[in-house]
Order: sequence, then structure tokens, then C-alpha cells
Amino acid sequence: MKTKGSKPWFKAMNNLTGKTFSVTILGCRVNHYEAEAIASALEARGAVFARGDAGTPPDIAIIVTCSVTSAADAKTRKTIRGARRLNPEAAIVACGCWAQSVSAGDAASSGADIVIGSRLKGRIADELENWYASGRQSRRSLTDIRTDVAKSRDWDTLSLDKTRILTRAFIKIQDGCDMRCGYCAVPFLRGGEASRDARAVLDEISRVAANGAKEVILTGVRLGGYQSGEVSLARLVGEISRVRGLRRLRLGSLEPFAVTDDLLRAARESEIFCPHLHLPIQSGDDETLRAMRRGYGVSDFERVVESARVYLGENAHISTDLIVGFPGETEKMFENSLMAVERLKFGKVHVFPYSPRAGTAASKSERLPAGTVKRRTALALALSERMSAEYASRFVARDCAVLAENGDGGVASGHSEHYLKVYFKARKRVKGDEITLTPKISVGSILLCEGVKPEEIADARRGDGETSG
Ligand code: SF4
Repeated sequence: MKTKGSKPWFKAMNNLTGKTFSVTILGCRVNHYEAEAIASALEARGAVFARGDAGTPPDIAIIVTCSVTSAADAKTRKTIRGARRLNPEAAIVACGCWAQSVSAGDAASSGADIVIGSRLKGRIADELENWYASGRQSRRSLTDIRTDVAKSRDWDTLSLDKTRILTRAFIKIQDGCDMRCGYCAVPFLRGGEASRDARAVLDEISRVAANGAKEVILTGVRLGGYQSGEVSLARLVGEISRVRGLRRLRLGSLEPFAVTDDLLRAARESEIFCPHLHLPIQSGDDETLRAMRRGYGVSDFERVVESARVYLGENAHISTDLIVGFPGETEKMFENSLMAVERLKFGKVHVFPYSPRAGTAASKSERLPAGTVKRRTALALALSERMSAEYASRFVARDCAVLAENGDGGVASGHSEHYLKVYFKARKRVKGDEITLTPKISVGSILLCEGVKPEEIADARRGDGETSG
């Protein structure tokens, strides 16, 4: 049943009191913020957040979905089916990019009860109230809450009081994208660009800091597009750096042309800004970048990285995304890409085999043979591992300030300021503590402190849960 603009008619009743709920996060950091904010909204209605180890399956399962690649679509379906198997009686809500694009039939056959599209996640609590109040759980008919977001610039009415799922607080300040990179469907799924009111951002960050968050990460779909009246991203970084109780400030993924001198200066002058920038290059070949409609060339990108290292220090962590196997990419273009990536000395390279997305310009182009994409992906991953290991090794035997993200005694872990994962021994619960550590060795891209054996990492990693990279 498609219910556009249905107004909740049950404000008096509260059907969520005591209901347990889980939140599963797929995809990007904007989704991480939205997941935490949805949890905030449900707890405000008396529902109870069920941690992973709750034992009994939750009454409500929220799945914040992703549709950036076909693999992400498959993972989303698998997650919804898993939630249905776990509790056949649960109310299953699918929201986010996959939910925005999926057909109603596909959503229902995947096991979802309610689909909530982009820019409408602020309505999840009301729609769940509706769902319980109207007895729809007995009829299992799909509740479909979506609008055509392509032109929307609305701001979703979500807000966060404290983190429940993660130690670090992702804060969404921007939504949507007006760019049209040739391979990317995000603008069609998230809509047009909108920036959050700067005062609202500062109030939210003050709230989460007052509730114990020591680190915030500013996120957006095109974060660099942030502008709220007179307040630019650079100015916002300066103002956030003065929020009481905050120890660390990071930026989510930034398009290279958003890295201005103003922004880098604000970062350098901030006492809490962490020297890590994630700048997606996508390709290291000019012709491929033109075909991708990225709007910059390799030399432009190199200038940005150079000035970032001037402002933030030679050891600043610059990480990136690289698409491999874009239509038309020749062996020579691919070699150019790897050479550029090697020259830029990234600390981390996330490698993505090209995945055609419906509605994008590139989806009309002939694809490269799957074997070619597979071989190039393997070569790029090997280079990525070598570069991450080289970067991490620079921090062995150097003091690192680490924010512990878990650890109830035994092997604990957290991220250093340079955004490296550090494992250490902890006799007591250290989650949320900031600790100075001196790693003894590096194993690939991670750092190990005194007494931690590489074989102990696998178990520790299983308990991580926090986003890395
Ligand atoms: S900037 Fe390009 S890659 Fe990023 S969301 Fe917009 S269209 Fe997609």
C-alpha cells in the first residue's frame, strides 16, 4: 500500500513502549549517522535498543540499506531475509538508498514490512506507531513511504542526543549531490544538495559531547558542498573545535575540489582536528577521469594532496577510493592509475571493481571482460596492501593518541589520530578512553602494542563493530 504524506493519527497512543529494536547499518558514514538518529527517535518513544548480544530477537529490526553497487544490493536483501528468519513476527523496516530504488514487490518479497525512502527517515517512529496501531502486522501488507527525491532539497528531520551503536559520533551536515559522476547513482537515490543549519549542527555536537562522545566525524553525501548561509565547512570546523568536551574532529569523504586553503587552514588551527583526509581519486588516468566526469585531472589532485601535507604535516593520512575496470579503461590507462596511486603515497586505498548502476551515463557503455576487471582489481589490492603497510610502519615506536572503541579487559582496540587501527592489552574496560600508546610492530595496516600477538587480532577484530577506513 503506497501511503504518500499519510499523517499519523495515533499521537495519543504509544505502541512502541517496551518494544525492543535492533539497527543494522550497511554502507556509508551518512548511514551511520542516520542509524544512530533513528535509534534516538525510537528510544524517545519508549522502545528499547537491543544490542547484538541481546539473546532474544528484537520486536523491530531497522535496516539502513545501501545501493552503491550491485554487491551492496545483494547484501541488503540478505540482511533483510536474515532479520525475517531471526524473528518471523518482527516489524522489519528497510530505509535508505536500496529502499528508495527497490520495487514494492521486491521489497515485500525480501521480507520488509515498511519501506522508507530517502529524506523520510525522520518518520520511522510515527510509521511504526501507525503499523502497530492499525494491526497491519497481522496482514503483512507492505507500507510504502517514499517520494521522488531526485529534485528534493528537504532536510530529513533526524537528530541525535547520544551514540548507542558506535563510540565515535558521525554527524550528518549535508545531504544529496548535484554532481553527475558517470558511474554514480547516489544523486538519484539521495536527491539534490542540502546543508544543515549550522546552529543545529553545533547544538547536536554539544549534546553528543555532553553525553560522552569524544570524537565526531562530519559526514555528507557531498560533504564539500556544505554551506549554511554565511557558514562554510571551513568556518564550521573552527566553531566545532571550540565545543566543550570534544577531543577529536574528523571529516568524512571529501571531493578534491572541496579541499580549499581556508579549510586546510581551519584544520591546522584546530586543536582537535585529526590529520586524516579521505579524498576519492577514483582513477589516476586523465582520460578515465574525463570519462567519469569527475571534474579534475591527476595533476589537480596531486596539488590538493601536496597542500594537504603542507598544512597537516608530511605524515598526514591521505586515503582514497579507486575504481578499477571502468568502461574504456585500457591497460595503459590502468597502469597510469596505479603509478599515480603509488606516487601519491596514500595510507589506504579502497579498491572498487566497476559496478554499472541504472540511470548512470556509464551504464550505457560496453563493459570490460569480467576476467580483466578481476585481474586489475587483484593488482590494485596488492598495491593497496603494500602502501597501507608502508604507511603504518612509520608509526612503530612512536607515541600515538588512541581513542579506545572497545575492550572489556584483554585485547582492546581503537583508532589513532592518523586513523590507524591500534590493538593493545587492557586490564579493565577502556571503551571511550583516550590513551597514549607506543606500538611495537605493524602488521599490514594495523599497529600492535606490547604483549599483543598477531594471532590474537582475529578474535579482537570480531568484537570490533566500529567502521574502519
Ligand atoms: S560527487 Fe560524484 S561520486 Fe560523489 S555522490 Fe556525487 S555523483 Fe556520486
